[in-house]
Amino acid sequence: MDYDVIISGGGPVGLMLACELRLHDVRVAVLERLTDIDQTVKAGSVNTPTAEAFYRRGLLPVLEEAQAETMKAFQAFMAQRGGAAPAGQPKMSAFAGHFAGLWLLTDLVDESDPDFADRGPAARLSGIRQQDIERVLGERAAELGADVLRGVELTGFEPSADGVVVRAGEREFRCGWLVGCDGGRSTVRRLAGFDFPGTPPQITGHQAVVTMEGDEGLGTGWTHTATGTYANGPTPGRILTVEFDGPPEDRTTPVTAEELQASLRAVSGVDVTVTGVKTATRFTDNARQATTYRLGRVLLAGDAAHVHSPFGGQGLNLGIG
Ligand SMILES: Cc1cc2nc3c(=O)[nH]c(=O)nc-3n(C[C@H](O)[C@H](O)[C@H](O)COP(=O)(O)OP(=O)(O)OC[C@H]3O[C@@H](n4cnc5c(N)ncnc54)[C@H](O)[C@@H]3O)c2cc1C
Repeated sequence: MDYDVIISGGGPVGLMLACELRLHDVRVAVLERLTDIDQTVKAGSVNTPTAEAFYRRGLLPVLEEAQAETMKAFQAFMAQRGGAAPAGQPKMSAFAGHFAGLWLLTDLVDESDPDFADRGPAARLSGIRQQDIERVLGERAAELGADVLRGVELTGFEPSADGVVVRAGEREFRCGWLVGCDGGRSTVRRLAGFDFPGTPPQITGHQAVVTMEGDEGLGTGWTHTATGTYANGPTPGRILTVEFDGPPEDRTTPVTAEELQASLRAVSGVDVTVTGVKTATRFTDNARQATTYRLGRVLLAGDAAHVHSPFGGQGLNLGIG
């Protein structure tokens, strides 16, 4: 055996799993097809159970440093926008979190309630970018002795009674167990034949970092309109739109400036021009869950096992848990 466990996918869940396995002296490799961390904006915060999981593993200080950098960018953006809140919405400074876009305000949090009090040091961590989590977990996994192999894509595997032969192009690895942490479109899930039932998408969402002109009329933070919901900020150029009248026509082609501009104009009613796209993604409320997380020596975790709307910020948090 080359490894006890091979993990396909070096996103947050695969890397967290690698760290946990190394703490039990399990020989582990992570195969990640990308050569660098994906800079597409995804999760931007963690909930308290996730912060507690990082705290238990001694990761709080390094994640807090990254959070401080992100907060500086938030504050610079808010200062530039004059701290303006969209009509009918509270200022960002009163923002304590959200569930499905519904704001929780700081003055509604009763710190004397045992559910909110005594959260300990983990309470300090919330506004952390997914990319920073992946960087920190990747470094920790390597320090703990996991082989994190970037630019290596799992292309096939053959399970047997006592192990799995994993193929990555021309390369072959022998391991005891294979875990698919390779995201919502998991290759492991597909090749192993896991059932993945659920409900099809009904909405079209976009999240991007862009350069734009004519954006002075956009609200800051989350704005609900008759044609959808959009968010502007809390870092320069970050936009999010949600249209509730059907799924995207095409979920595979790259997102263009024209597509983002059309969506932003349709939802905000503001004549914005998107002049450049740094990163962009489409998302939906496609909701599916594998009927089992294990078939013999092949297991699933994270988005490979369950996908749903990103509203409510549960995907990464659920996977880490
Ligand atoms: C717009 C948007 C906003 C979101 N906001 C939030 C939020 O606020 N809070 C929250 O908790 N979650 C949020 N999520 C969800 C969160 O991003 C995911 O739940 C999380 O990334 C899942 O982690 P994962 O490690 O399971 O999968 P992924 O992050 O998808 O990682 C999978 C990895 O596997 C790699 N891979 C794929 N196929 C192969 C292969 N064959 N071989 C090798 N490597 C492979 C990929 O390159 C990738 O790095 C959001 C998602 C989106 C799209």
